[in-house]
Parts: sequence; C-alpha cells; structure tokens
Amino acid sequence: MCRRDEAGLFFAPSKEPTAARLSREEAAKRVCARCPVMVECREHALLQPEPYGVWGGLTAAERRVVLARRRRRDMELKKAARPANQIAAAG
Ligand code: SF4
Repeated sequence: MCRRDEAGLFFAPSKEPTAARLSREEAAKRVCARCPVMVECREHALLQPEPYGVWGGLTAAERRVVLARRRRRDMELKKAARPANQIAAAG
C-alpha cells in the first residue's frame, strides 16, 4: 500500500500548507488502519526512529510523543524499582 505511495499520502511535499498536511496525514492513517502489519510497522518506526512521514498510523510528531512517554515511563519504573533493589542487596 504505502510502498508505492502513488497518491503521495505518506510524505509531505515541501512547503505544504497546514490544512493540506492534516488532510493528507489523515488519509495516510486511514490506509494504515487497514494494513495487516500496522502494529509491526509502528514498532519498527519507533525503534528507528523514522523522522519523517506517516508510519504505522502515526505522524512523526505523534511518534515523538509516544517515544517521550515511553522514556518517561521507563524512568519512573526504574525509580520505583530502585528501593526494592537496594533492600534486596542489603539482604
Ligand atoms: S502501517 Fe506501515 S506498512 Fe502499513 S500502510 Fe501504514 S506505513 Fe505502510
């Protein structure tokens, strides 16, 4: 589907007006929503991370938000685990 991207949905042309970008991204997301590999595609894009385009149903800005949330969650989990580790180490 997105491999050929004949409609130019997944990547922004230069100097794209905001309204056109939002409309194009929503159209790309609709394609992704029907894609059988959306979950895997999204994780791949988050691991790279892909700085441009719609991947796995997320825009680049949305992927940055997901990544920031994951980093914050990981830091909170590490913080929460620290006292337990210290207690275990003390025996
Ligand atoms: S989920 Fe990924 S592979 Fe599927 S259409 Fe969207 S960008 Fe393409």
